[in-house]
Amino acid sequence: MRPILLVALGGNALIRKGQTGTVGEQFENLRVPVAQIARLSKKFRLIITHGNGPQVGHLLLQQECCAEVPRLPLEILVAQTQGQIGYMIESTLDNELTSLEGEHQKMIVTVLTYVLVDEDDPGFVTPTKPIGPVLSEDCAAGLSYPTLTTPRGRRRVVASPRPVTIIEKREIARLISMGFIVIACGGGGIPVIRHGRAFQGVDAVIDKDLASAKLAEEVGADLLIIATDVEGAALSYDTAEEKFLRRLSIDEGESYLRQGFFPPGSMGPKIEAALQFIKSGGSRAVICSIDSIEKAVAGNAGTEIER
Ligand code: ADP
Ligand code: MG
Repeated sequence: MRPILLVALGGNALIRKGQTGTVGEQFENLRVPVAQIARLSKKFRLIITHGNGPQVGHLLLQQECCAEVPRLPLEILVAQTQGQIGYMIESTLDNELTSLEGEHQKMIVTVLTYVLVDEDDPGFVTPTKPIGPVLSEDCAAGLSYPTLTTPRGRRRVVASPRPVTIIEKREIARLISMGFIVIACGGGGIPVIRHGRAFQGVDAVIDKDLASAKLAEEVGADLLIIATDVEGAALSYDTAEEKFLRRLSIDEGESYLRQGFFPPGSMGPKIEAALQFIKSGGSRAVICSIDSIEKAVAGNAGTEIER
């Protein structure tokens, strides 16, 4: 059996710094990670997860610009981004697999995924998840919703409860065992709480890195790759003292997290996700740039978490 590799793609990596995020740009950007994933599918059974921060924020702005149509809650917008980004990844992957030499398995499926959260999660009280475009300070001053200064600039933030379990974990595990490449947990998953035996959607966006680690754990993945727009995690990021971390032990990771080197809503959840996956028994977790996924799998790039 080929080992199971879960690759988490950053929503921000689909829309690169300085881009407005046209569909053309997103398709073009996707070819970089997806061409690598296509080649990796020879050696690994594959799950692809993805973020949706910019995209879900765009949908929210689009609907706020039109008073005539009913407002959709965030959980519906997250479901929409699973469709739109799932489609873009699937069709790009289909093309990349077709252009590879030789015969290739080309069974790909996107799974609408919901993720259970706790209705008492403190993430509902203090919003930390940045979505949508970077706002100018002037624009942010007059807004009715909360914003925060992130490493990218000022952005809208929404509630982000932690993932408790991935509802479709059994279906996803079955699909991988049948040879499908599975795209799942898009945008961190559609957040739901349990009401008796039923599920009810809630207004939030789950962090896709934490959801990816949970899915990786629940389907017994061997390797977790978190691909973003920087080479990996650094201490004193974006300062003169910046120090890139090639390797990071669990103890160091937890200590640096406590000291505030990895902020919430960006590098913080990536480190937390990688630590959690290794602690739950995963073999390897690497945070790397979207350009170096294959190098990271080979052990030659990114920040590698060590037991
Ligand atoms: P993604 O869409 O891939 O999840 P995020 O914006 O959530 O991207 O997280 C990646 C960003 O984290 C980087 O672009 C970088 O600006 C920021 N960042 C914050 N702290 C650090 C750090 N200590 N090391 C590396 N990057 C960091
Ligand atoms: Mg992120």
